[in-house]
Amino acid sequence: MADIDAASRIDLHTHSTASDGTDTPAELVVAAAAAGLDVVALTDHDGTGGWDEAAAALPSGLTLLPGIEISAVAVEGEREISLHVLGYLIAPDYLPLLTECQLIRDSRFHRARRMVEAIAADGHPVSWDRTRSRAGGAVGRPHIATELVAAGLVATVADAFTDEWIGERGRYYLPERKLAVLDAVRLVVAAGGVPVFAHPGASGRGSVVSESTIVAMCEVGLAGLEVDHPDHDAETRARLRGLANDLGLLVTGSSDYHGGRKTTVLGENGTAPEVYQAIVAAGRGSRPITG
Ligand code: AMP
Ligand code: ZN
Ligand code: FE
Ligand code: FE
Repeated sequence: MADIDAASRIDLHTHSTASDGTDTPAELVVAAAAAGLDVVALTDHDGTGGWDEAAAALPSGLTLLPGIEISAVAVEGEREISLHVLGYLIAPDYLPLLTECQLIRDSRFHRARRMVEAIAADGHPVSWDRTRSRAGGAVGRPHIATELVAAGLVATVADAFTDEWIGERGRYYLPERKLAVLDAVRLVVAAGGVPVFAHPGASGRGSVVSESTIVAMCEVGLAGLEVDHPDHDAETRARLRGLANDLGLLVTGSSDYHGGRKTTVLGENGTAPEVYQAIVAAGRGSRPITG
């Protein structure tokens, strides 16, 4: 068990090559220690394939909080809004969740292939083989964005997330399979995990859900809101902090580090030690691992 004290630095949301980050899980934990973190959560999209490698490579003193980030959708009237649910300390072998994640990863693969083929069909020099070879687990739009950069079509990964390319209303955007958001929360709970709503106010990525959806998530077991996130401005953070307080939810913070595919750095936002302790106390599906 790691010594967690008031000075501990805790980053609860990162990605590795097991999804759309650029650091291998082993590189990620080494980088987390070098950044001065005491706890890092590995939360790859729709899979836990990076956990074992990260655990095996843990530098002395660093604690790994095993996690996942599940692709989900909320329906509000006629609108379908994409959102992400973090699940900490889930049991990685809980079959209902495992099966859903496998279906999502399969759909991500075919969706990404169709997106790259549509871009190629318009005469752009992009390759599906190159794109897929960069993904060690769940394929995501950031992999396609990297291919667009490599082909000289956009300058940066962020520049690919536009209407012209693969932004949510983009010319080449296709959706992947997603879990209904209440099912995502329920499945994390059923897997013994602790569900936290990732970047609930990240309006730069597309529409964000209304408070009524967050209340409904609470009713099925949501434990927290990721308030301190690079995509949230000060006003959004203040509003979400108030909402978390009203609803009795934990407040978490993270970098949502993706290695070279985002400009955020490890530890850019943190989670309070007492919040981390509450997550550890609530999780039953797996345990934090200390190097
Ligand atoms: P996907 O889940 O495949 O649709 O891809 C969504 C992922 O792309 C998110 O999890 C982010 O990591 C990344 N992303 C979304 N919007 C942007 C953006 N504007 N700039 C860079 N990365 C983004
Ligand atoms: Zn990502
Ligand atoms: Fe996310
Ligand atoms: Fe993420």
